[in-house]
Amino acid sequence: MEEYRGGTETGNQADSGYNHQIEIIIRKEGTGRNPPEHDPATNAPQNTIPSGAKLSAMPQKGLYRGIKLANPPPPRWSPDVNIGRIEACASEHYGTAPTPDRIWLSTRHKDLSKKTKEFIWKSIHDAFKIVKFWDRIEGYEQRGICQTCESPESMEHILTECEAPGRLQVWTLANELWARRSNTPIPEDYGALLGCCLSDFKRPDGKSDKGLNRPPRIPVSESMHVIWKIRCERTITWGNDPSKFHSPHEIHNKWLQAINTRLRMDSVQTNKKIFKDKALPAKTVLRTWEGCLKYNLHETRNLCGKTGVLVGIAPRRPPGRNR
Ligand SMILES: [Zn+2]
Repeated sequence: MEEYRGGTETGNQADSGYNHQIEIIIRKEGTGRNPPEHDPATNAPQNTIPSGAKLSAMPQKGLYRGIKLANPPPPRWSPDVNIGRIEACASEHYGTAPTPDRIWLSTRHKDLSKKTKEFIWKSIHDAFKIVKFWDRIEGYEQRGICQTCESPESMEHILTECEAPGRLQVWTLANELWARRSNTPIPEDYGALLGCCLSDFKRPDGKSDKGLNRPPRIPVSESMHVIWKIRCERTITWGNDPSKFHSPHEIHNKWLQAINTRLRMDSVQTNKKIFKDKALPAKTVLRTWEGCLKYNLHETRNLCGKTGVLVGIAPRRPPGRNR
């Protein structure tokens, strides 16, 4: 009995398109091979016009190309929407009108740590596995919903709206530190947060005032990253189990650790013997952390290799632990 293996008599359109594409590739490339003379699988019934490719005649290369054509990768999201938002927020909150090129440069600013650079770049590209990622996978849409707020879990939601433990407390702490340098609170707009390196205060001589421009960049970028880390631990590590949500003490200390690490990095980088011409001027670091230090810069630098708190905000200890 003859077996027909290349046709689409079922009328399934997806199969038909797939086979048709493979057939085109086979015709273009040519296999240089003839099917075996007595292979029953390659002979179609007489009254049937085969519309697909003969499996026995398919080269591996052609097969892979056919599969790739039949399953194209999903389109990448354009970052233009987020760039537009940053542009609009920069003129509102930082009094500057940056071009898209300047915005991209700001995402690689040297005042950002490596992990916050990566975080901001990925956020602008919507590259994290949150709502937009899951929305395009059939059957997994529910994973794009915030289990606490029951709304789509975009990065904007995580950083500016989410009611789960972490976000609000982190921004309160960041504002507490910020208030020592500025009379206005940290902007809450998503675009202003992503564009935190766009502030450009000038000195009287017209040059950029690094000591005044750095204070918004460090606490804002580090706070965003701490909120994201807390969210990932809550949802991925602990599967949204409310009994394992972070306590206020844990959140407080996580944020404090991130800020102290940055302060340590700043203090160490003022050492000219080690960093030579790449050393940060002590004046810039002092002006950045003015009003926020627990000790003076010299003492801070001496304490950098040790554990402890350098900014003037104390860590919290869990209740009931008398240490
Ligand atoms: Zn939420």
